[in-house]
Amino acid sequence: MTQSYFPIFWNTDSGTALVVGGGEDAVRKVRLLVAAGARVHVVAPGAVAEIEAYADEDRITLSRRPVQDSDIAAAAIVIAATGIDTVDSHCAATAQAHGVKVNVVDRPDLSTFIVPSIVDRSPILVAISSAGTSPVLARRIRERIEATLSPNLGKLAEFAAGLRDRVAERLSDGRKRRAFWELFLDGYGAEGVLGNRPDTGRQAADELLDTLSRDEKPKGRVTLVGAGPGAADLLTLRALRALQRADVIIYDALVGPDVLDLARRDAFRLYVGKAKGRHSYSQDRINGILIDEARRGSYVVRLKGGDPFVFGRGGEEISALRDADIEVDVIPGITAATGAAAALRLPLTQRDVANVVSFATAHPAAGQAEPDFSALADPKQTAVIYMGKTKASEISAALIKQGRRPDTPVAVIENATLPDQRILTGTLGDLPAVTSISDLTGPALIVIGDVVSEADLSTSESLTEAAAKDRAVA
Ligand code: SAH
Repeated sequence: MTQSYFPIFWNTDSGTALVVGGGEDAVRKVRLLVAAGARVHVVAPGAVAEIEAYADEDRITLSRRPVQDSDIAAAAIVIAATGIDTVDSHCAATAQAHGVKVNVVDRPDLSTFIVPSIVDRSPILVAISSAGTSPVLARRIRERIEATLSPNLGKLAEFAAGLRDRVAERLSDGRKRRAFWELFLDGYGAEGVLGNRPDTGRQAADELLDTLSRDEKPKGRVTLVGAGPGAADLLTLRALRALQRADVIIYDALVGPDVLDLARRDAFRLYVGKAKGRHSYSQDRINGILIDEARRGSYVVRLKGGDPFVFGRGGEEISALRDADIEVDVIPGITAATGAAAALRLPLTQRDVANVVSFATAHPAAGQAEPDFSALADPKQTAVIYMGKTKASEISAALIKQGRRPDTPVAVIENATLPDQRILTGTLGDLPAVTSISDLTGPALIVIGDVVSEADLSTSESLTEAAAKDRAVA
């Protein structure tokens, strides 16, 4: 039968922790105890170098001799880690006789307490135990918690502690104080502290205190969040946190369902991308929605494929929000170019091959007939073209006219990083064939430059063959 445990945290000021043994098991426990600020007494006839070093630095007391019953009686807790059955059993029995809590490493049957796996964000401490049923499972859980908790969580706890008196002073009503903490911890102030911007935290706290003490509704806010190229696990941890905090999520076509699955369940979601038979929302309309939702007091996440600032119109949204006096910040995402490059093991720059990389779009700016590709002429430049599929012929002709070799290698990557990723390769001269591949309907990038020859193209198809096949079917 599985043993049951009740978790408690031991106050390290309340006594001495005795570690019996000087080997590897002992040192692991000593490390944890020292990190927790405990007073540690190690008793062992011989100890490994790390324990000797702790003793030299006066961080522990080391008695180089066999353990005595008086050592055990004087301790608040005992960890027996000699690995010698008779010694460990004796320690356990003596400790129990003196009412001292004892743990024998890997012997829950002899122990009155066990030591959990921990995630340390002091003063926040997460302890995990599988009650000995599966240490590996406990470790997996620990890794998952490690990954989801910001490394700066401890800083946030300290920040909150520093704020408590002021909050109590400004808000006498207990309900309002609770509202303050909920809004603060869910909002951009906490995000600021976690992102090493304590000034943002202070500013947010001040604003919130003003708002609540005047009985006003808290101000909303918008964060532009880069959703990455498609695969959900290419989101940044910061983007994930924003998604889990959002009241409202406004997203477009390039954001996949796997990414949305990570958002807060009860967030209001609005799709503003193109859909079959329906017009997409105009940029003005999207700006209007962002402003309205923020004015209503919501935390709005504007979720965009890739990075918000790479052909994402992030700049336009920011200036509209600024004009409306709404606070906005930006969380970067992996842009399609770097996502695709990684998927193909394609270095975008490479010594002697490419010393410039350009992200360009084949879409002309409003009021202009054609995009200008003169900046992409340099043969040692990698050109990554976004939204270029339908303009492949123009791109090919323009770059060749600029002097790039027709045999410059080219890769077209559709649905980069997603399960249905497709790679087509050929030369700059072949590029126009792209337009006759009818089933190339997903988002696609065109990468032009000698670095393409460095890529792993084992799963690629030939551009010209794919186009020819298509014609044969037609
Ligand atoms: N802000 C986005 C780009 C938006 S423009 C970013 O940083 O990635 C839209 C274009 O991005 C598409 O037409 C396509 O060229 C490219 N794109 C976006 N996601 C892609 C993907 N998974 N695979 C290939 N191209 C992609």
